[in-house]
Amino acid sequence: MKQKEEEQRKRYVMVVELKKCFNCKGCVVACRAENRVPLPVSRNWIDESGVRGKYPFLGMTFEPSACNHCEDPPCERVCPTGATFRSPEGIVLVDDRKCVGCKYCILACPYDARSVNHRDRVIEKCTFCKHRLPEGRTPACVETCMGHARHFGDILDPNSEVSRLLGEKDRFVKKKEAGTRPAFYYVY
Ligand code: SF4
Ligand code: SF4
Repeated sequence: MKQKEEEQRKRYVMVVELKKCFNCKGCVVACRAENRVPLPVSRNWIDESGVRGKYPFLGMTFEPSACNHCEDPPCERVCPTGATFRSPEGIVLVDDRKCVGCKYCILACPYDARSVNHRDRVIEKCTFCKHRLPEGRTPACVETCMGHARHFGDILDPNSEVSRLLGEKDRFVKKKEAGTRPAFYYVY
């Protein structure tokens, strides 16, 4: 039984190949449409992190960003009702029925990954499109990424694309000093 549980264990992560993102924002639009996120709220966004390359071959680096699905998430620690929780696969979620709208989680998140959806009176954040995963589909932002910059999968599976990318390339996470152990990686 224990062996079966270990075989079934998953840990979902996102890996972004920075050199492939050209800031088309297709992922931002896809997320909004898939999850019916009302303006002006957004579950994901693109940061411009600076110039790369050497003159005259210069370019901008764009960093697609969202909830980092942290392994040690402060948003979960401060939630007084247990509305914020981590799924067995490491997805950080909000149970709308338990949320009292105190916004402690918004203040606690070092990544500004949460906001209030005033239309539905819920806390908005990325869910890794968890409703698509049982069908074997990837999050909407990954499926629609024209540059193929976004990758999603199980880091515990040594044969997954995310494991291969993280094994082959230099990686970093944002705000490592915050100590939240993000599941959102960037590679060059
Ligand atoms: Fe929580 Fe913010 Fe980490 Fe997402 S990025 S798990 S909202 S602390
Ligand atoms: Fe928890 Fe909701 Fe308060 Fe956030 S706003 S800390 S999810 S009860």
